[in-house]
Order: sequence, then C-alpha cells, then structure tokens
Amino acid sequence: MSRFFSSKYSNLEAYVPGEQPKNMKYIKLNTNESPFPPSQGALEAARLEAGRLQLYSDPECTVLTEKAAEVFGVSKECVLMTNGSDEILNFAFMAFCDKEHPIVFPDITYGFYPVFAELNGIPYKEIPLKDDFSVDYKDYVSVNKNIVIANPNAPTGMALPLWQIEEIVKSNPDNVVIIDEAYVDFGGESAICLTEKYDNLLVTGTFSKSRSLAGARLGFGIGNKSLICDLNTIKYSTNPYNINRMTMAVGCAVLDDNEYYMNNCKTIIENREYTVKNLQAMGFYVLPSVANFVFAKHPEISGEELYLKLKERGILIRHFTKEKIKDFNRITIGTKDMMDEFLLNVSEIIKER
Ligand code: PMP
Repeated sequence: MSRFFSSKYSNLEAYVPGEQPKNMKYIKLNTNESPFPPSQGALEAARLEAGRLQLYSDPECTVLTEKAAEVFGVSKECVLMTNGSDEILNFAFMAFCDKEHPIVFPDITYGFYPVFAELNGIPYKEIPLKDDFSVDYKDYVSVNKNIVIANPNAPTGMALPLWQIEEIVKSNPDNVVIIDEAYVDFGGESAICLTEKYDNLLVTGTFSKSRSLAGARLGFGIGNKSLICDLNTIKYSTNPYNINRMTMAVGCAVLDDNEYYMNNCKTIIENREYTVKNLQAMGFYVLPSVANFVFAKHPEISGEELYLKLKERGILIRHFTKEKIKDFNRITIGTKDMMDEFLLNVSEIIKER
C-alpha cells in the first residue's frame, strides 16, 4: 500500500477472481464460462465494429437496449446495459445503499457482495444458509433492509422458486431487492416478469455465462424506470461510455442469435445431469444445481486435495477456503468431452488413494 492510499480503503479486501491461466493447456472448469464460442454473427459484428473504434460508443446504448428490452419483454426505459453484471451490481449498491440503508445477503453467495459493501462503506449482514445449503426465503420476508440474492445462488447452484422471490419483494416495499440472475438460463425462474408490478425490484443479468461473452463484459439491470433512472445517474457520474463499441455490436448480434445460445444452455443442462449422475456414482454428495456448475464433495478426499490433484493433471476447478464450504468444489459444466475427461481424472485420483 502506498502512503497515498485513502484510509477509507485501507481495510478493503478486494475480490479475488478465479484463476485465468495464460496458456490454454488447462481444461477450464473454474469460472463458469460457456464452453461454446460466440455465434458466427457475433464474430462478424466484432470484426466490422473494430474498424470504428476511433469513435466513442453510444452512451445511451440505444440499439442494444431496445433489442434487450424486446427479448426480455419489458420497455426500454426499464433496462440499463452495463460493463458486465458486476458493474450494475456496484451501481445498485452505490445508488440504493448507505449507512441508513444497509443490505443483507446469504453468508454463502457471490463473493463480490461484501466487497461492494465494504468499497462503498455500506453496513451489511450475512444471513446463514439452511443446513442443506438452501436460502430460507422466510429469513428475508419483512427484513426491512435492502437485499441481494443470487438466484440461482453461487456457488451452490440452488434456486428459489418465483413465488418465494415475490414474497420477499412484496414484504419489503420500502427497500430495494436485487435478484442477481447470472445463472438463470440454466434452469431457474426469472423474476423479470415481476419488475412491472413491484417498483422495488431490480433484476440483474449477464451475457457472460449463457451467452458466451465473458470476455466482452456485458451485463444488464431490469427494473422500474425510476430505479433505472437512478442507476443511470450513477453511470453518467462514473463512466458514460461503459460499454465499448465492439461489445455493443456483439451484444446485438448475440440477441439476434438467441436460439443458438438457448440451445447451448440445453446442452449444458444435459451435461450437468450426466456429470451429477457420474459424480454420485463415485460417492460424491452433489447439491441440486440449476446453474452451469455443480457444487460437490466426496467423503474421502478433501476439497483442496481434489482441486490440487486435478490441477496437476491440467484440469481447473474452483475451491473456496471458507470454513463452511471448504470440503466442496465448484465444477463448471463444459462440453461432454470436457466432462468425460474431468470424470475420468477424478475416478483415477480416487482409485489412487
Ligand atoms: N453474479 C454472480 C452470482 C456471479 O457468479 C458472477 C460471475 N462471477 C457475476 C454476477 C458477474 O458476472 P459478470 O460481471 O461477468 O457479468
């Protein structure tokens, strides 16, 4: 730390992203990316737009916002496109939370939430998951604080049904409820349909997982237009050109090719069920996931040992050191070939012991 670093950040523990190896020798099952490349239309859009990079991007993100509104079935005033969903989440923490408006979220969830809270000086409370690692929606009913819930949750992959989300939103009318739907396309129920009815609901989403654009950085928020207006105030006060031209063009092409991406999700779901079955056959306890990853532990091998042994063999999965989940690993679902390679190596590692 330099002697110039503001004391307001001196205790900040930054978010630690999953490993991004510089070579491609690993089978990457550690950061929930799609194993499928962007569609041809998306590649062509990127190529064409690259020739216009001397110009700023459209700060209003007009064409992409209109397309997204159409695909998600809302009006364009209810959508804000951002640089990944991390950006809309940070905007929401900045816009709606402060010392008088603290936030609550599960104790086991996306590791960025406490970082956004710390970064912005927002008091927060972590609510323990139930023993089966599910979120108990009753813990959030009438809690009278701002709320953020990843649904499906990460790293568990478990989801709340829409009616429970509605109970949470309905019972906290004077607080903002953020539902982070980064993984919804792999089997969850989206709450976007509730955003017209409730002015305190913000749904966030990303093109990083189901739409193969993790490297392009594209996310969004959908909510009542007054919430979106506040979020725009934050955007124009931090980075008006938050989405670069290539990503904007690629995002439009991706929405035009929606069927390709939704079919890829179906394949991932099949591969997930295949992986779960095979892990269970090897003695793993696997949480019931509706995401593009599974969270699993084995009675005989520690989470850390399995992670390290797989890494030696060129396969990356994600291990977390937090006490409550240190026996587990989070395994991203890839192609069938990737999962076969993973399963073969896991079975060899177990046999070797
Ligand atoms: N929410 C959750 C629950 C996530 O796991 C992630 C991915 N790390 C994000 C949001 C952010 O994804 P991105 O910024 O790539 O849209």
